[in-house]
Amino acid sequence: MSTFRAIPSIEQLRVREGCRALEAIYGRDSLVAALRTEADEWRARLANEPVPPDLAELIEARTRQRLERLHAPSLVETINATGVIVHTNLGRAPLAEPAADRAAAIAAGYSNLEYDLEQGKRGRRDTHAERLLVRLSGAEAAVIVNNNAAATLIALAALASGREVIISRGELVEIGGGFRVPDVMAQSGAILREVGTTNRTRAADYAAAITDRTAMILRVHPSNFRIDGFTERPTLESLVALGRRFNVLVAEDLGSGYFGVPESPALRDEPRVTSSLASGADVVMFSGDKLLGGPQAGIIAGTLEAIGRIRTHPLMRALRADKMTYAALEATLEEYAAGRAVETVPVPRMIALTASEINRRAETLAERLNAAGIRADVIDGFSTIGGGSAPESRIPTRLVAIALPAERLEARLRAQRPPVIARIEQGRVLIDLRTVRPEKDDEVLAKVIAASAMLLP
Ligand SMILES: *Cc1c(COP(=O)(O)O)cnc(C)c1O
Repeated sequence: MSTFRAIPSIEQLRVREGCRALEAIYGRDSLVAALRTEADEWRARLANEPVPPDLAELIEARTRQRLERLHAPSLVETINATGVIVHTNLGRAPLAEPAADRAAAIAAGYSNLEYDLEQGKRGRRDTHAERLLVRLSGAEAAVIVNNNAAATLIALAALASGREVIISRGELVEIGGGFRVPDVMAQSGAILREVGTTNRTRAADYAAAITDRTAMILRVHPSNFRIDGFTERPTLESLVALGRRFNVLVAEDLGSGYFGVPESPALRDEPRVTSSLASGADVVMFSGDKLLGGPQAGIIAGTLEAIGRIRTHPLMRALRADKMTYAALEATLEEYAAGRAVETVPVPRMIALTASEINRRAETLAERLNAAGIRADVIDGFSTIGGGSAPESRIPTRLVAIALPAERLEARLRAQRPPVIARIEQGRVLIDLRTVRPEKDDEVLAKVIAASAMLLP
């Protein structure tokens, strides 16, 4: 038989049961294209190879693999075993279950996103979640935008465009991911007026810089870095007193959005949203998906007058959050309002986990790995909060250390589905279960066993 004839036609292949199942998943065009490519490859190969007896089956199997590869989603669930709780590269805050459920329900249907159910007419999207934010923060009003970078941009544009904003040289920071305070300031149209020095800035430095061109004093949480030693920074209260005296707004970019939950030694120095507002800041900005543990969002809370100007600024339309964000944020805030966020919202819950709780799970994992012939020990170590919160604060944890070639094991863990992301320290792969949901412990075990398969002596 001629080798060409040995290759079944596309039509013959398509009617095979397995191929029909593939067509149901991927659609006709994708299936036919994949079968064509596969058939072409066999045509070339059969020029110098004998025809395998089960050629149609082989083509089908390879077509399945090809389609699976081609259509695999790019964004996939990932197991975070690094112990970095707000991991910027791993999607920051995992949502609380009620928040994920609410977002899914709102996403799949219609909602009153911009509809006033009482009046039966057009409503405002920016009222959703505001009631809870006002209640939790003590502010008069609040609005939500896409992220905290957007919050800072629009607050500056609405409140200080064309005028001067005074900021300490110690706070002209780059947060990461390209967020540089001076650049955001330039984009907003506000004019940067630096005062003080990198390590020391006093209230008198701010006072000396105030003129009739000044619109705002801006404080920025230095987030991901810290200056130690000979340092000085005025209290927020003293800046508020200056602001009141000279009729200048005081704004604070808090970064993390800490509402005092959980109370943890690691967060001792983290500024709270409520304290900042209670000290008299006119507006504060913070992220929805850092310490707060909600969806990606930028939250601006403050006086009716300041929030009103932000709400009506033309940039609002460009920076507004979508319905899933509102849904997830409102549900997250409800957990805080009900006083159970430390149990139900993953970020505060993971921060609050004690080393002994983690130790129990780590011992179980290590025992089961040892039983599978993989040497693993439980050792002391530290988790970190991440996300630019409390840069120096480390939380004592218990780590599972695996005695296999670290670089290769780490890479093979990353190649699993779902991937397991672990860290390497002192030549060993370390698994920190603090950032793993307890329901996933079995999956971590299975993935470590699978990844170790070819590395065992
Ligand atoms: C993280 C952070 C930002 C940026 O917030 P995003 O939500 O990532 O846009 C801005 N300012 C400070 C102080 C931060 O810590």
